[in-house]
Amino acid sequence: MSSNLSNHQVRLAKRPEGLATRDNWQFTTEPVGEPAEGGVLVKTLSLSLDPAMRGWMNEGKSYIAPVEIGAVMRAGGVGRVVASRNPGFAVGDTVYGTLGVQEYLLVAQEQVKGLAKIDLRAGSITQWLNVLGMPGMTGYFGLMDVGQPKAGETVVVSGAAGAVGQTVGQLAKIKGCRAIGIAGGQAKCDWVVKELGFDACIDYKAGPSAVRDGLKTHCPKGIDIYFDNVGGEILDAALARLARGARIVICGAISQYNNTTPVQGPKNYLSLLVHRARMQGMVVFDYADRYPVAIAELSGYLKDGRMKSREDVVEGIDTFPEALTRLFTGENFGKLVLQVAKD
Ligand code: NAP
Repeated sequence: MSSNLSNHQVRLAKRPEGLATRDNWQFTTEPVGEPAEGGVLVKTLSLSLDPAMRGWMNEGKSYIAPVEIGAVMRAGGVGRVVASRNPGFAVGDTVYGTLGVQEYLLVAQEQVKGLAKIDLRAGSITQWLNVLGMPGMTGYFGLMDVGQPKAGETVVVSGAAGAVGQTVGQLAKIKGCRAIGIAGGQAKCDWVVKELGFDACIDYKAGPSAVRDGLKTHCPKGIDIYFDNVGGEILDAALARLARGARIVICGAISQYNNTTPVQGPKNYLSLLVHRARMQGMVVFDYADRYPVAIAELSGYLKDGRMKSREDVVEGIDTFPEALTRLFTGENFGKLVLQVAKD
C-alpha cells in the first residue's frame, strides 16, 4: 500500500544568519517505499518544534551533529506504524522517535531501536511531546538532579509559560517550593499564576527594571534555584539576587540563539563566589535511561490533576518555517507542536 504514497519533506537549504526564514528551507516530495525485512514504516502525526532546532541549523560542534545541508530537518515526533516487517511493532502502534520534518519515515532494522512505543492512556499525543516528552524530561531532571530542590526554597524559572518552564514551576510547587516565573506578557503571567499555581510571575517585557524589581519583591530571601531557559540579561538579573548556596541550572539561552554577534556571557558571575553558589549545564539526553521513572511520576500528576499542560498546535507541514519562528518571537503559548496529520 505504501508504494503509492508521497512523502512531503522539509529540508535544510542553507544555514541562517540570525532568525531563519522560509529561504532556509526546501520542500521536497518523494515516494514513500516499503519497509525492508525487520523495518517499519511510520506515519508522522505530530512533531515537536524546539528552540534547539535553531542550533542544529548551525555548522560546528555541539552536543549533537548539525543537520547537513540538503538533509531532512531533524525533529522528534509521535507517529503511527502503518507497515511493519518487525515482530516488535504492529500496524497501529503509536511511537515516539526522531521522525524528521516529513510525513513518513521508513525505518531500517538497525534503526528500529530508536523508536519507542508510547501508551496514549498515560497522556495525549501532544502531552507526549510536552510534559511526558523531551521538554518534560528536561524540566524534571534539570530541577530534580541539577537543582536539587528542598521544601521551602524559592525556585525561579524563566520561559515559565513554555514547555520546559511549565513543568519546572509546577514540579517545584509539588516538591514544596515557592515557584516564581518569568515570562513575556501579562497573559502568560496570568496563566502561570492562576492556572498552574505559581506563586508569582514577572513580565520581563513590562519595563527595563521589571525583572530586577520583580525578583526583589518576590524573592525577599534570595533565589535558591534559578532554572535558566533564556540567558542574557535575565540571567544577570537572577545572578544579582542569589541566596547562599544557590544552584543555577543552565538549560538554555534562547535570547542568544539568533545572535549574529558573540553570545552575551553573565556579567554578574562573581555573585557565585559571594553566595557560594554553583551554575551547571545539563543536556536531557544524558538522563535517557531514567525517563521511564520521570514519565511515571509526571503522568501520575497529570492524572490526579496536580499538574496541567498547555500545548500550542500549528497545523500543516508547509507551515513549518513560520511555526518555528514563533519560538523566538514568543508567539507560542505553551509547548509548540506541528500537527502533520490528524490521528
Ligand atoms: P518554550 O519556552 O516553549 O518556547 C520558547 C519561549 O522562549 C518563547 O515562547 C518565549 O517566551 C521565550 N523567548 C524567546 N525569545 C526570548 C528572549 N529573547 N528573551 C526571553 N525569552 C524569550 O521552549 P522550550 O522548548 O520550553 O525551551 C526552553 C529552553 O530550554 C530553550 O532555551 C531550550 O533551548 C532549552 N532546552 C534545553 C534542553 C537541554 O537538554 N538542555 C532541552 C530542551 C529545551 P516569552 O513569551 O515568555 O518570551
